[in-house]
Amino acid sequence: MDIQSLLEEIAGSVRPVAAAGEVADYIPGLSSVSADHFGICVATADGEIYGAGEWTSKFSIQSISKVFSLGLVLAGDGDRIWQRVFREPSGTPFNSLVQLESEEGIPRNPFINAGALVVTDRLITLTGDAGAAVRDLLRRESGNPDVAVDPLVAASEAEYGHRNSSLAHLLASYGNLENPVDLVLEQYFDQCALEMSCRDLAVGARFLSRNGVAADGSQFLSSSQTKRINAVMLTCGTYDAAGEFAYRVGLPGKSGVGGGIVAVVPGRCTICVWSPGLSKSGNSLAGMAALDEFTTRTGWSIF
Ligand code: GLN
Repeated sequence: MDIQSLLEEIAGSVRPVAAAGEVADYIPGLSSVSADHFGICVATADGEIYGAGEWTSKFSIQSISKVFSLGLVLAGDGDRIWQRVFREPSGTPFNSLVQLESEEGIPRNPFINAGALVVTDRLITLTGDAGAAVRDLLRRESGNPDVAVDPLVAASEAEYGHRNSSLAHLLASYGNLENPVDLVLEQYFDQCALEMSCRDLAVGARFLSRNGVAADGSQFLSSSQTKRINAVMLTCGTYDAAGEFAYRVGLPGKSGVGGGIVAVVPGRCTICVWSPGLSKSGNSLAGMAALDEFTTRTGWSIF
């Protein structure tokens, strides 16, 4: 299969879709990006890298960071986190508060904001600095020592972070935070504000396609832990569009409101797409179309 030509064809065919999406506007730091960028990268489990479009341009990884913080907590602490967060799809927007109250402070899953705040909180306890732990993991796994936070996006998240603040205070009111609310928010914003390219994210997530084996050959996660992260990505990684994503793409995937999506073909490769125009559910419109076309044309799906 000629993956390079396929990616170039896909980059050509989905560009018109990109302009139809809405760029995230909940913070000024993201709203200035234009909707019609598009990049795609495939990193195979055995080390090949293919890319098309703007695959080396940096963008805000946002909620894609939640996969890496969860990985670090599972690696450091085993299954303990599952006492503080469920692993069920929420069917509500990523920043929703409603279920947190009806379910007494236990978030539905680690990929909605409430769940990610709990994971970040645990990572602070384990490492002292969750933002730096996620950044360093991504530097190591992507092989790019320059992976860093965009300070303008981080500051914007903090300034306009009223919903995340409410979620964190609600979690604290139920006793589901171990660290001070302000510290948890600061480090959650830092991990969301990391800037990376499709290339760096596809390569950086490769352990998910390699049974947990890290870039240096060490076992970062067990194969069972890796399978479970992929399962939670499939069921919860694209919020209330997870059903549609499984139907159209057929892979575990994690999106962010910066317009990136990372998808995993276990045993074979990771794929990262980026296009900032979003659907109503906060997932990249052209990114989803590109992954749909990629899995349809290659037949690479978990189903
Ligand atoms: N920083 C964003 C937020 O907390 C992340 C959301 C997302 O990418 N879905 O609202």
